[in-house]
Amino acid sequence: LGMPAPLVSLAPRRRSRQLMVRDVPVGGDAPVSVQSMTTTVTADVDKTLQQIAELTASGCQIVRVAVPSQDDADALPVIARKSQIPVIADIHFQPKYVFAAIEAGCAAVRVNPGNIKKFDDKVKQIAAAAKDHGTPIRIGVNAGSLDPRLLAKYGKATPEALVESALWECSLFEEHGFTDIKISVKHHDPVVMINAYRQLAGQCDYPLHLGVTEAGPEFQGTVKSAVAFGALLAEGIGDTIRVSLSAPPVQECKVGIQILESLGLRERRLEIVSCPSCGRAQVDVYRLAEEVMAGLEGMEVPLRVAVMGCVVNGPGEAREADLGVASGNGKGQIFVKGEVIRTVPEHQIVTTLIDEAMKIAERMRDDGVAS
Ligand code: SF4
Repeated sequence: LGMPAPLVSLAPRRRSRQLMVRDVPVGGDAPVSVQSMTTTVTADVDKTLQQIAELTASGCQIVRVAVPSQDDADALPVIARKSQIPVIADIHFQPKYVFAAIEAGCAAVRVNPGNIKKFDDKVKQIAAAAKDHGTPIRIGVNAGSLDPRLLAKYGKATPEALVESALWECSLFEEHGFTDIKISVKHHDPVVMINAYRQLAGQCDYPLHLGVTEAGPEFQGTVKSAVAFGALLAEGIGDTIRVSLSAPPVQECKVGIQILESLGLRERRLEIVSCPSCGRAQVDVYRLAEEVMAGLEGMEVPLRVAVMGCVVNGPGEAREADLGVASGNGKGQIFVKGEVIRTVPEHQIVTTLIDEAMKIAERMRDDGVAS
């Protein structure tokens, strides 16, 4: 089953060529995918695979691992084989690790044009090896490591500088007939980043990996990423996303998924429609919303649950949701699919909502909604 048709749509998706990151299509009409990056030492295979398993469970579709040393490169074959989701090797400075990652069966390799001066004379061999193994390359430009030549030309990491760096690196691969490429042009400033991706989108048809780099601690990074990705995705730009937070990678993944769900680009699972509360609230809305969210976390069917503080908007929102409560006077009217099924005292609201949610989820599963 697909997603419900939205009332209004985003701009049509930019036309990009499609490539395969193992079994995950990126670009073309493929759904926008969510990526994250492990924070473990890659050479610690058990810990890295454990973190990948956690990311997989949280809905991550592609994972990147850093490869700064030979020990990390040596760990790639096992990690690539055992990971449930495609593994991308992230490589700076050392061309030999690019070859190792391709040989190891990594699903793709990310290289940074700003840090690969030593790569330029190796592009021919890299292109040949990547082509032989069907391994795509991400050209990942980053404001913090912009090619010194372009830094001198533009004075700083402007959108034009980021785009020129990416397209220059692409041209080196294209000269050798290699076009299995996706691109990122990341900056910590969403305005620069948005403009860079807009320019890039107009100048090539490669799939684009969106990212606000070094977006900051969780709260700030979440807002910056949501604003930047939202602007671009609403214009149809972006084929895969990575939220960068100074926080555990599972959190990055959850934020990425929430951004896509908010834009109707990924099927919603649990959605809590809760009011901000105000002087009219007759129950503790924050606590109710948190408890309902916690009680239903991991729910795999798309379920909208309304938690409303009073009767002003409560019955209306609760009626629109699959399930809801409109509170008042120390009690909660419980709605299921628009009908009041019962009124319970405040201390039973959460358990009643969770019980009813489980029943609805079971019916949806029986109907095949969660397949
Ligand atoms: Fe205030 Fe009621 Fe609206 Fe909640 S639903 S914000 S309590 S008026």
